[in-house]
Amino acid sequence: MVGMGQAALTTPERRPTRQIDVGGVAVGGGAPVTVQSMTTTKTADAESTLSQIYALAAAGADLVRCTCNEEAAAEGLARIVPRSPVPIIADIHFHHEMALAALEAGVQGLRLNPGNLRKEVEIKQVAAEAKDRGVPIRIGVNAGSLHPDLYKRFGSATPEALVESARMELGFFSEVGFDDVKISVKASSVPLMIESYRLASETFDHPLHLGVTEAGPPPAGLLKGTAGIATLLAEGIGDTIRYSLTADPVEEARAGRQLLEALGLRERKGLDLIACPSCGRAEIDVIAVANAAQVALEHRNLPIQVAVMGCVVNGPGEARQADLGIAAGRKRGHLFIKGKIVRVVPEDEMVDALVAEAEKLVSEGVEARLAAADSTAEAEAEADRRALIDAKGDDANASETKVALIRKKYGTDREAN
Ligand code: SF4
Repeated sequence: MVGMGQAALTTPERRPTRQIDVGGVAVGGGAPVTVQSMTTTKTADAESTLSQIYALAAAGADLVRCTCNEEAAAEGLARIVPRSPVPIIADIHFHHEMALAALEAGVQGLRLNPGNLRKEVEIKQVAAEAKDRGVPIRIGVNAGSLHPDLYKRFGSATPEALVESARMELGFFSEVGFDDVKISVKASSVPLMIESYRLASETFDHPLHLGVTEAGPPPAGLLKGTAGIATLLAEGIGDTIRYSLTADPVEEARAGRQLLEALGLRERKGLDLIACPSCGRAEIDVIAVANAAQVALEHRNLPIQVAVMGCVVNGPGEARQADLGIAAGRKRGHLFIKGKIVRVVPEDEMVDALVAEAEKLVSEGVEARLAAADSTAEAEAEADRRALIDAKGDDANASETKVALIRKKYGTDREAN
């Protein structure tokens, strides 16, 4: 049932990158694009951090990053890693000893920021240790914390400066024979981020980790993240993604997963609720019913597309690609599967009927549920439809009347009059 309702159209051709292995999760080299997020708990508090990691994994995170900023955090990682459902990446700033301690704790990945971990000897020491342990590193360049020398050389945090920072770090790594790397060149400015990743994609064949940093709270943060990440993914650039939201990180993981599903880059794992925008024909409060359906269905993890449509006149037809849907008319709800009416229920039972059918659809399959349709449903639905068209006419939104008026006043029918 996975992926029902998702049209198998074209997915962007991925730009080829080499593949790395982050604790059993492949990144790059044609592997499915992965979702990352980062815990907000104190890493030293292993229980709270693990509970957040479980929530992130359930929301769609394939990889989770935890800060390793002090010895207690490294100790926390030693307790977290063996119990985590997904590979753990330690986030390192300033202190190379924390990278070494995180490796000792057993993390499956490191993220180093070349802007604030600057001593060549320390960088090489970490890379050599990572090499010995077979642990990949993300070179995480950030426009906001660019190395001061590069800032001086390029005048500002340009795409060239960000890519140069990654190139220099790669140079240090290669001196100790380490190349198990992915790269990010994040910025909070979406245009700068996009240009930087395009340049990085031309420059390196390492997998790229995409993100708009410090995007802020939703909805603006979500929009900024999507603008940057989706643009690049649509160009085939990017192997793993992270939304950086000022919000519960579960929202980051959920958004990442939903974006990949929306772009057809990952199979549908969760619900895709669609709803009509409502119009003069609507027989119900579409927003209220859609929200009620969303609340009732979203925690059930059903991999289907469900439609809530405001009227039975056009609803089932407009949403015929949906796995399941409901449309309102004459105080009744028409439940449909792949556009075919299977049941007619009272209006106040619409959401309950939708939820019950969604669960059966996932467990029994489309064919079985179509076979179980009420034999009178199609005829009842057609009677409702006809009655509504008779009552409201074919032009409930008055569109055709307006079109005729426009033509008469300003257009093709003018001269004829
Ligand atoms: S015609 Fe019906 S289904 Fe389409 S937008 Fe209007 S109310 Fe919704």
